Amino acid sequence: MKSYDHKKIEKHWQTFWDRKGTFHAKDNSPKPKYYSLVEFPYPSGAGLHIGHPRSYTGMDIISRKKRMEGYNVLYPIGWDAFGLPTENYAIKTGQDPRVVTKKNTDTFRKQLKSIGFSFDWSREVNTTDPKYYKWTQWIFLQFLKKGLAYKAKIAINWCPKDKTGLANEEVVNGCCERCGTPVEKREKEQWMLAITKYAERLDKDLDTVDYLPQIKLAQRNWIGKSEGAEIEFEIPDVGRLVSYRRPTAGGKL
Ligand SMILES: [Zn+2]
Repeated sequence: MKSYDHKKIEKHWQTFWDRKGTFHAKDNSPKPKYYSLVEFPYPSGAGLHIGHPRSYTGMDIISRKKRMEGYNVLYPIGWDAFGLPTENYAIKTGQDPRVVTKKNTDTFRKQLKSIGFSFDWSREVNTTDPKYYKWTQWIFLQFLKKGLAYKAKIAINWCPKDKTGLANEEVVNGCCERCGTPVEKREKEQWMLAITKYAERLDKDLDTVDYLPQIKLAQRNWIGKSEGAEIEFEIPDVGRLVSYRRPTAGGKL
């Protein structure tokens, strides 16, 4: 039996797909639309990690199936390329972040293509491209006009090593997710987005989507819709606090 020469065969088909635009979504197509979205990779210096192919393969299978079923599928890809890892890497290696980002995205692109994912590469985006971030700036201005973006002085998570504020999601066991330094609380004037105004709607709309229960719960906790908490105290001479309970699954104390 002839052995499967993956290097030759895969290269052949990947070139064919590229040349023919096999996976390009068509503008103004009469076919029904299907949009498959994965989280765009953060192009670090290390290249892809195993988590990327894991989630992209699942969505790739769905995208290919949908195309075979006659859908005009948009399966986009791009680079979520702003942020701390690039900054740290650039400082560490003494390179311009722009050069580092270009080098990293080139590596990631080559790796993703060699796996053969059916992304629409003609629509590749990069969050560091002015043509892209002018729209994030535009959205911010709409928030500002509607009073949904505002400044407030609040205590934030602060990494003394990276000298930057961190989101709650970037703090793991009280330490900076990036560098492991214990995180401090600092009073800082911050831009805030009033997403809590949408808590009710976001929470309710989760009932309408087909997500796994644990994903829905994680989303609900993140939305953090709160109806307050009920706390019961025992009288002082009898003892201490006996119980508290949360009235809703997503409630925050
Ligand atoms: Zn840090």
